[in-house]
Amino acid sequence: MLTIALSKGRILDDTLPLLAAAGIEPTENPDKSRKLIIPTTLDDVRLLIVRATDVPTYVEHGAADLGVAGKDVLMEYGGQGLYEPLDLRIARCKLMTAGKVGAPEPKGRLRVATKFVNVAKRYYAEQGRQVDIIKLYGSMELAPLVGLADKIIDVVDTGNTLRANGLEAQELIATISSRLIVNKASMKMQHGRIQALIDTLRDAVEARHPR
Ligand code: AMP
Repeated sequence: MLTIALSKGRILDDTLPLLAAAGIEPTENPDKSRKLIIPTTLDDVRLLIVRATDVPTYVEHGAADLGVAGKDVLMEYGGQGLYEPLDLRIARCKLMTAGKVGAPEPKGRLRVATKFVNVAKRYYAEQGRQVDIIKLYGSMELAPLVGLADKIIDVVDTGNTLRANGLEAQELIATISSRLIVNKASMKMQHGRIQALIDTLRDAVEARHPR
């Protein structure tokens, strides 16, 4: 059995056509179903529906053989416990700092609100900049508006959410897309099967999302 961990939403919507190219289609609509384990048209392939930030955990621990996770999630998760053999070129966006439009750089320690605490620590450490990092779980855009933080670090696509809240994107930390990740033991134990799937997905990515 091959188990593939995915999250609902953007990643699921963009991954399903790629999996379909490999003959893998869910037997019920994961967006509508309440089931967390979804069989597919291949008897020996199933999908696990998990939170986006939990995908690397399921795959590293071998509860799923493969997964699809955003590079932002993988950067925050860290570690060397996963293979990342393929850029799926989906759910593309940018991981950026942002602050209030026209606000001067604060004197003294910068206060940065984000859910990407590890990314933020690494980013400012590389710059030798002292910062206070404030962990949030959502609605980061609010933090500079109410004086909780000077800046935020968040993923930005069109920038509409920032603009609607009087914020502007500032520094680019990383360009983001979703990646196929593979459990290291699964890659050894089921090498032929998984490599064949990677090759098929690579062709589907080239066809659907050419550079
Ligand atoms: P935007 O188009 O910049 O207004 O983004 C809309 C919202 O979706 C923002 O809150 C972003 O944080 C989030 N977002 C945009 N693109 C992605 C992505 N590829 N993955 C996860 N979240 C995203």
